[in-house]
Amino acid sequence: MATTQGLVIINTGHGKGKTTAAFGQALRAVGQGLQVCIIQFIKGEGKSGEALAVTAAFPGQVALHLAGTGFTWKQDREIVKAAALEGWQLAREKILSNVYDLIVLDELTYLITLDLVPEEEILDLFRERPQRLHLIITGRDATQGLIEYADLVTEMRAIKHPFQKGVTAQKGIEF
Ligand code: ATP
Ligand code: MG
Repeated sequence: MATTQGLVIINTGHGKGKTTAAFGQALRAVGQGLQVCIIQFIKGEGKSGEALAVTAAFPGQVALHLAGTGFTWKQDREIVKAAALEGWQLAREKILSNVYDLIVLDELTYLITLDLVPEEEILDLFRERPQRLHLIITGRDATQGLIEYADLVTEMRAIKHPFQKGVTAQKGIEF
């Protein structure tokens, strides 16, 4: 079998679908027997439907970790930072462990845009990863360095969102 070429995949932009697409990709990988790890940064307050579903359905094949503290604007910066750095340390261990075929780093872009972890430190770790390891990064406003390093970048563009007419987040659709 040919050697796997691990890809760096980014789902960015201000439209909906970044995290759900990452979970869809993870589901596809699991179906093909790949070992998957998902780390969710920043918005780790309670498990989302997709997190509940994958851990219930594939306990041996998907490892899921919540590295957030809830919504950033409700939190003290030091608390947000501590949780993010803990998550980043966990990401380092998982990436270098050589156990996984695919690791999803959900909402990772905020570590850079909120000045919690330097972009260069993130790229250094990506360069050190096992060759076969695919990475999926999600989050708005992916930085230029991340985009240049990635193999596959998709921008979700918002054309219409129910939020604009006052419909708030609904269980099963937004979380
Ligand atoms: P999803 O988790 O549904 O795939 P996402 O990961 O692309 O969405 P995030 O940027 O992480 O979206 O934002 C989380 C939530 O914010 C989503 O549930 C989404 O519905 C909502 N959202 C996304 N885009 C917009 C928008 N343009 N206006 C208002 N709310 C939005
Ligand atoms: Mg998201």
